[in-house]
Amino acid sequence: MGAVTPGLVCGHHHLYSALARGMPAPAKTPKTFLEILEQVWWRIDVALDLDMLRAAARLGALEALECGTTAIIDHHESPHVIDGSLQVIADACAEVGVRVNTTYGVTDRWQDDGSVFGDDWSTPPLRMTDAARRGLEECEQFIAGGGSGFVGVHAPFTCSDETLEAAAGLAKDLGVGVHVHVAEGSVDAPAGRRLENLAADDWLLVHCVHLDRPLPGTIAHNPRSNMNNAVGYAQPTRFSNPIVLGTDGIGADMLEEFRLAYVRLREFDVTSTPSTVWQWLENSYAFFPDAAGDRVTWTYDTADDPWSVAFTPGMRALDVVRNDGIVLLRDGVAQLVDAGEVRAHAHEQAARLFALL
Ligand SMILES: [Zn+2]
Repeated sequence: MGAVTPGLVCGHHHLYSALARGMPAPAKTPKTFLEILEQVWWRIDVALDLDMLRAAARLGALEALECGTTAIIDHHESPHVIDGSLQVIADACAEVGVRVNTTYGVTDRWQDDGSVFGDDWSTPPLRMTDAARRGLEECEQFIAGGGSGFVGVHAPFTCSDETLEAAAGLAKDLGVGVHVHVAEGSVDAPAGRRLENLAADDWLLVHCVHLDRPLPGTIAHNPRSNMNNAVGYAQPTRFSNPIVLGTDGIGADMLEEFRLAYVRLREFDVTSTPSTVWQWLENSYAFFPDAAGDRVTWTYDTADDPWSVAFTPGMRALDVVRNDGIVLLRDGVAQLVDAGEVRAHAHEQAARLFALL
């Protein structure tokens, strides 16, 4: 019999990215983090419609569940379909049975005349755009309607001070934090200075690779994504903030992310132990206390031991029972949705997305 653990939590995800795999390669090879954003992610998010988003979120939630992940903190952007997008994500996750906290990441990079803010991001946009205003409204409506969410900001380098202040103010009014990418690449190195007088303990600060000063909040560490984008090692242990683990849109297999986070930490400090990184998994129950009551049965009887998990690739979730008794996964098969239908739908919507790219 395999070990039983609580449900796992993905501390930073982009569910919409579930459709991105297999996308046509950009016309020229991106050479920097900024070019990766411009040529891959900003082309995808602008092409999304609500059918694609629903398909992506259902697939992302299904893949999370199949890895024993029962709760996701999602960060979303779809500039052509802002209104109602968060409810689409919440409904898709509810279909699968996975909990989600989602947000719309506001940005001023889409100017009011439809153009993209200049190529040189050394100075941020000057004014709040209409798109950012609508993004904040989407967060407000979703949360006021009972949705679980943060107020979202893409990243300080694509936002005016006016937008950062409006997001911080709205979050305070709603009694939630701000979920924001912080100094992921060197292009956003001024983020610490710009957020210093705005950030609060209930903020979720994502990446913090080039953060030059402490900010209040929880740090979401995404080691696989950071390595993939060659932005550097975040050294999250240099700060005293609580740390959670995220995938930044590369699935939601949290034991896999745990193993990678551990060896990356170990490469930086060979005296570190898996228990440090295990604590990062446990810290995320602060956002989803109910997930600690979910029960995941694994293929190994050592799935609750950090040292064993660190050196045992390929552990799989067999059964997942939510804290309310609902069986979400049995023998690795989703119970509330037909996994084959979810995958076929995603395949069909990905083909539509790729045709637009
Ligand atoms: Zn992210």
